Amino acid sequence: MLNDNFLKLPGSYLFAEINKRVKAYEAKHPEMKLIRMGIGDVTLPLPQASIQAMHEAVDELASGATLKGYGPEQGYAFLREAIVEHDYRPIGVELESEDIFVSDGAKSDTANITDLFDQSVKIAVTDPVYPVYVDSNVLAGRGGLYGEDGRWSDIEYLPCNKENGFVPPLPSKDVDIIYLCNPNNPTGTTLTRSELEVIVDQARSEGQLIMYDAAYEVFVREEDVPRSIYEIEGAKECAIEFRSYSKTAGFTGVRCGYTVVPTALTIRSSSGEEVMLNPLWSRRQTTKFNGASYISQRGAAAIYTAEGRAQVKQNIDYYLNNAAIIRKALMQAGVEVFGGVSSPYIWLKTPESYPSSWDYFHYLLEEKQIIGTPGVGFGPQGEGYLRLSAFNSLEATTEAMSRL
Ligand SMILES: *Cc1c(COP(=O)(O)O)cnc(C)c1O
Repeated sequence: MLNDNFLKLPGSYLFAEINKRVKAYEAKHPEMKLIRMGIGDVTLPLPQASIQAMHEAVDELASGATLKGYGPEQGYAFLREAIVEHDYRPIGVELESEDIFVSDGAKSDTANITDLFDQSVKIAVTDPVYPVYVDSNVLAGRGGLYGEDGRWSDIEYLPCNKENGFVPPLPSKDVDIIYLCNPNNPTGTTLTRSELEVIVDQARSEGQLIMYDAAYEVFVREEDVPRSIYEIEGAKECAIEFRSYSKTAGFTGVRCGYTVVPTALTIRSSSGEEVMLNPLWSRRQTTKFNGASYISQRGAAAIYTAEGRAQVKQNIDYYLNNAAIIRKALMQAGVEVFGGVSSPYIWLKTPESYPSSWDYFHYLLEEKQIIGTPGVGFGPQGEGYLRLSAFNSLEATTEAMSRL
C-alpha cells in the first residue's frame, strides 16, 4: 500500500503555471526581451577560492595515496571546525564541532528532520511560507486535510502581512514545532532580536521546538537582526538551525549545507523520558545519508579563508545593490515595497489597479516584459503581493527598473 499522503499533496503548480504563461506570451511576442526576476537561484560565478579548492580536491582523488572515499556522515572535521570558528565564534555563539552536521543542503535537512518526530506532533508555519516545511510534514502524516482555502487542517498558519509588519503572531500553546525563516523567503523581511526573543521565550516555557532556517543569513545588514537563533538566550535548548552554502557562496548546483543540533536540546519520549536530539539526528544521518562530497566540503571550507570571505562579500554586495535599485525604483513608482534590505528578495504590494497577485504578474509580463513570482503561490496570505528577485545581473535589473 502506498503512503497515501503523496496523493493528498496538491501539484506544485506555481512555477509550472508561470512557465506556461510566459511561454504563451513569448509565442505571441517573439521580439520582446523578457527580464526574469522570478529566480530564486544565484547567477554570479562561485568565489574563486572555492573553485581553486575544489580543483585541488579533484586532484587528490586522482591518486590512491590521497584518495577520499566515504567520509564521516556528519562531515569532515576541517569543515565542522571551520564553521564553529568562523560562522559562530565571531558572533559570540559557542558551539562544538559535534553540534554541526554537514549535508548536501538545507532543503533536504529541513525535510528530513521530520523523521525525528512522532506523527502526532502539531506544527506551525508562517503564511506565506517556503513550501518544503509544509509538504515534508504532510508526507509524514501531519497535514490532515487540504482545504479549498489552500491550508492543511492540522497545521497552524501564522499570517505575515504588511498589517503586522511580517512578524508572525505567537503560535498557540498546543503547537509543538514552529518553522521560521529569517531573513525570510519569500517576503525578504527580517525578524529582530527582540521579536525572536518573544518566540524563544514561549518555546522554552511551553516546550516547543523552533526550526530556524538561516539560509539567507549572509545577507543580513541590519544591526538588530541576528545572524543565528543562538544569539538569543536559551535558544540552544529549543532550536535547530539550518544553513546552506547555496545562497552564501553560489553552491546551488554544488550542494553543501549544514544543520546545528545543540547537545543541550532534548525531547520527550512517549515514556516521558528527556532524550538528547543530537545523537538521534546523528543516528538518522548515519543510517540514511553517506555524507556530502569531499569536493563540496573543500569548496565550502575555502569561503572561510581571507580571500574567500572577501569574494563572498563582493557577490552578496552585488545582489544587495540590485535589491536596493529595485526598492528605490518601486518606491519612486509609488509601489509599496518590503524586504530587500537584508535579503535578495523584494516583496511588493500589488497596486489597486491590479489587486491580485496574478493580475499584477500579467501586467508586469505584458506591459513591462518583467517576470515576477505571484505571492499567492507561497500561501493564501501572499495574495495581493508579488516577489521580485535581485539574483539577476546589474544590467538586467537596471533595465527592468527603467521600464517600470
Ligand atoms: C534556497 C533556500 C534554501 C537552501 O536550500 P539548499 O538545499 O541548501 O540549496 C533553504 N531554505 C530556503 C528558504 C531557501 O530559499
